[in-house]
Amino acid sequence: MTAAAAAVDREAERLTELDSAIGDADHGTNMQRGFAAVVKALTEGEAPATPGAVLTAAGRQLISSVGGAAGPLYGTLLRRAGKALGDAAQVSAEELRAGLSAGVDAVGQLGGSAPGDKTMLDALVPGVAALETSFEAAAAAAGDGAVATVPLQARKGRASYLGERSIGHEDPGAASSALLLAALAEVAA
Ligand code: ADP
Ligand code: MG
Ligand code: MG
Repeated sequence: MTAAAAAVDREAERLTELDSAIGDADHGTNMQRGFAAVVKALTEGEAPATPGAVLTAAGRQLISSVGGAAGPLYGTLLRRAGKALGDAAQVSAEELRAGLSAGVDAVGQLGGSAPGDKTMLDALVPGVAALETSFEAAAAAAGDGAVATVPLQARKGRASYLGERSIGHEDPGAASSALLLAALAEVAA
């Protein structure tokens, strides 16, 4: 979560720039506010005792601190993943993959969205699937998925209001998803 927050801080300007092209120019600041709240909650006061509790607490913070669509969506992903991990003291890479996969499914349910809609799912779905191979493969697949949103027309979220004018721009949420999986790979390495 600390690495994710740092990555979001580093790239906040780029995320907001992407969102200024097809949204309302707040994705970078939304993500910064959310992950700052996550780090604050995890470092001040009593730290959660298990990996699952860390993800659940982080998800709760994202939901309560971010006004934009991405907050509830990422928050739901992490809460669902945390729930999947249960109260195990340690989790394997495979358990983490399965938990994140359940979390990504929950994003699609909440958002009524699927890959191809030009959303975060276009990076998350291939990224989390590639966790079967390695953390680096996941980061690479999510990055490729984000770039592949450029020619798509948005069918969900604020960018969908633009219709065909959403074509030709990378989706900000897909870009932040790639960033988050790259942070995970960095930490795993
Ligand atoms: P807002 O659009 O409310 O300002 P953000 O700018 O923080 O919120 O986040 C926008 C991102 O959220 C989009 O780029 C997209 O990836 C993601 N998003 C929006 N709606 C959906 C949805 N229904 N399903 C999946 N992802 C979505
Ligand atoms: Mg926005
Ligand atoms: Mg907004």
